[in-house]
Amino acid sequence: MPTAISELTTIRVGGPAREFTVASNADELVSLVRDADRAGTDVLVIGGGSNLVVGDDGFDGRVVRVTGSRLDIDGEIVTVDAGIEWDAVVQATIDAGLSGMEALSGIPGTTGATPIQNVGAYGASTSELLHSLTVYDRESEQTAVWTPEQCGFGTHRSSVFKRSSRYVILDVTFALKKTTESLPVRYAALSERLDVQIGDVVPVSDVRAAVLALRGERGMVLDGEDHDTWSVGSFFLNPVLPEVPEAAAHAPSFPDPAGTKIPAAWLIQNAGFPRGYGTEFGRGTAALSSKHVLAVTNRGGATASDIMALAAHVRDGVQEKFGVTLTPECDLVNCALG
Ligand SMILES: Cc1cc2nc3c(=O)[nH]c(=O)nc-3n(C[C@H](O)[C@H](O)[C@H](O)COP(=O)(O)OP(=O)(O)OC[C@H]3O[C@@H](n4cnc5c(N)ncnc54)[C@H](O)[C@@H]3O)c2cc1C
Repeated sequence: MPTAISELTTIRVGGPAREFTVASNADELVSLVRDADRAGTDVLVIGGGSNLVVGDDGFDGRVVRVTGSRLDIDGEIVTVDAGIEWDAVVQATIDAGLSGMEALSGIPGTTGATPIQNVGAYGASTSELLHSLTVYDRESEQTAVWTPEQCGFGTHRSSVFKRSSRYVILDVTFALKKTTESLPVRYAALSERLDVQIGDVVPVSDVRAAVLALRGERGMVLDGEDHDTWSVGSFFLNPVLPEVPEAAAHAPSFPDPAGTKIPAAWLIQNAGFPRGYGTEFGRGTAALSSKHVLAVTNRGGATASDIMALAAHVRDGVQEKFGVTLTPECDLVNCALG
């Protein structure tokens, strides 16, 4: 058993927990959560810990680490325990001659967490592949199978599960296609890397290889030796603004149903925070990735307070320069940007 939550998170911060437990299947997961709820004990469910920053005081309750073993492929339908590592599922489906998940290669964490922020990358997202999922409702103590429509997916890494601990996801079922051709390529950097046009299809394994290469160059594939990957991935959401402030008028912008989307990375870089920024700030233990300004990273020895201080400093700098407030994409538990 771990002694600190930092051992369970990819950014490697987080203090002790009152109790550490591991659920190896859905029944154990429900029991561990339900028993704690009935005893009035707080619960923190952790999958791969790749989208989570926990404070230095840790968590005064039961941590339930989700693991699992079931990965059933039945024709084009794939059912996976929540605790199975996501990228292993992507690889297994490609090995089984299925198409759909290839652009989501290399994303850390567990399968059960993918619907939570409608995990997406390179033009693909979980919600498009979702067939159904099984949830345990901590309020009613009931388990139910939900359709994608019930999950309330939004365009900005959102769903009914995000920022709510009411539901525990027990398993996820995906509907894929039996073909070795990828989904149409939708993302400019990916089409450039593959040397194809947007909308073209290519072998699924080519997309996986290209995505893994692109992600690796940005420090977005976990590598214990590379501090640029000791992160939560993108720390901030890309802001969607009803009106773009004058100061940000020359930023790249993308139409969005809720307004105009501006890349957070552009705002950070142009507010004076280059890649690698941070070693001169505070204790120097937290810094922006040397490959990607959107990742706040632990250079070794960082505390959650160090991470929060740097992230708040960057947020404030962007606010001052552009009048835009960045908000975290990751979940913060017992810590805040202040
Ligand atoms: C290097 C790197 C690259 C990344 N790249 C991307 C990317 O390209 N796209 C993207 O969308 N994200 C990305 N992320 C973020 C992260 O990998 C995803 O959000 C991932 O789905 C989180 O999974 P996890 O199992 O690690 O969740 P955790 O961090 O363990 O948990 C995240 C939240 O979900 C809750 N939770 C976890 N499992 C369950 C469950 N079974 N039921 C209910 N609640 C649960 C937790 O309580 C917590 O609130 C990246 C992260 C890193 C470190």
